[in-house]
Amino acid sequence: MTENTKTGNKNWRPATTLVHGGTTRSPFGETSEAIYLTQGFVYDSAEAAEARFNGEDPGFVYSRYANPTVAMFEDRIKALEGAKAARGTASGMAAVNLALMASVKAGDHVIAAKALFGSCRYICETLLPRFGVESTLVDGTDIEQWKAAVRPNTKAMFLESPTNPTLDVIDIAAVAEISRNIGARLVIDNVFATPLYQSPLKLGADVVVYSATKHIDGQGRCLGGVVLSDEEWITDEVMPFVKHTGPHMSPFSAWVLLKGLETLPLRVARQTESAGRIADFLAGQSKVSRLIYPGRDDHPQADVVKRQMSGGSTMVAFEIDGGKEAAFRFTNALETIRLSNNLGDAKSLITHPATTTHQSIGEEAREELNISDGILRLSVGLEDPLDLLEDVEKALGAI
Ligand SMILES: *Cc1c(COP(=O)(O)O)cnc(C)c1O
Repeated sequence: MTENTKTGNKNWRPATTLVHGGTTRSPFGETSEAIYLTQGFVYDSAEAAEARFNGEDPGFVYSRYANPTVAMFEDRIKALEGAKAARGTASGMAAVNLALMASVKAGDHVIAAKALFGSCRYICETLLPRFGVESTLVDGTDIEQWKAAVRPNTKAMFLESPTNPTLDVIDIAAVAEISRNIGARLVIDNVFATPLYQSPLKLGADVVVYSATKHIDGQGRCLGGVVLSDEEWITDEVMPFVKHTGPHMSPFSAWVLLKGLETLPLRVARQTESAGRIADFLAGQSKVSRLIYPGRDDHPQADVVKRQMSGGSTMVAFEIDGGKEAAFRFTNALETIRLSNNLGDAKSLITHPATTTHQSIGEEAREELNISDGILRLSVGLEDPLDLLEDVEKALGAI
């Protein structure tokens, strides 16, 4: 394999990094990234095999450990995020699980923000305690609650911001200061903000995770995830976990996701612009009792947004006046925007969290998280914004 000599250019701006970063080429010199659909690798001699296994020769050994196409994906997103090391995973949940499992052992304690993607909440609330890791869930926007939850054995802190589905924004730098003071590892799920609008490592976080399934693929084709952090922790803790338990990314998914990274800035910028227009329209509607969009000055944590995000991103949350019945009438009247629990897609997707993604947490937990029966979560896609606005306007009329 011949290395692309320009791969290491540190001066590229994000859009250029996302087209060229991490590219390696076979002796054929292909323009596009090759898919290395191989399980293993052959060695020219017994000595060469020995050198691979003892690390003297850094080449590939087995695709559960590492794979050339997956490595290109890892190197590209690493360059964008400004991280020293990255591991691709089979899904976003594999990445979250990996980041937490590689941070704790029995007897440790984890603090997480309550407003979490459902499966992340399951890991913190149910799975970790089964293995002797206690967890405390706090209101992430209340910094005092993070401080109060600290115990001598707190080893990891976990949050997503903006949160799902109510788009609250948590002060990452403030939580990072608490975790740094006690030597815990702060893990940020950065899916909703995307790597373009928020850089948690620069805000003091230790680890960033993505569900690459969302904006990074962005066209609803495959699942993937990635964990980004410093070299030492990835090598010493994350790598052995991946090697021996197998949550690795498939080379085919890595190839799809490399294509996704090339167009990420274009797609996310367009989706964000449309999301802003839809949010502004909804804000003026009498049938909308609450509107939450991080790109607007009336966002509940607008001051934090200004400090840590450079764009409002692609998600809009709003409450239809009239509860579940009115929200259902609105959703059922939509024709362009499709009903789906996914997000970050080219297609605009809407979901009613109380009866879908957040049905199983129960009414009490929903109340605590402000997920009323009228709340809808809209992921804005790549359609012409005028078609989206017309769709929303017509559906409001149907209530
Ligand atoms: C989708 C999502 C996940 C899980 O990702 P998968 O790729 O579906 O496993 C985790 N966190 C957030 C915020 C998500 O939106």
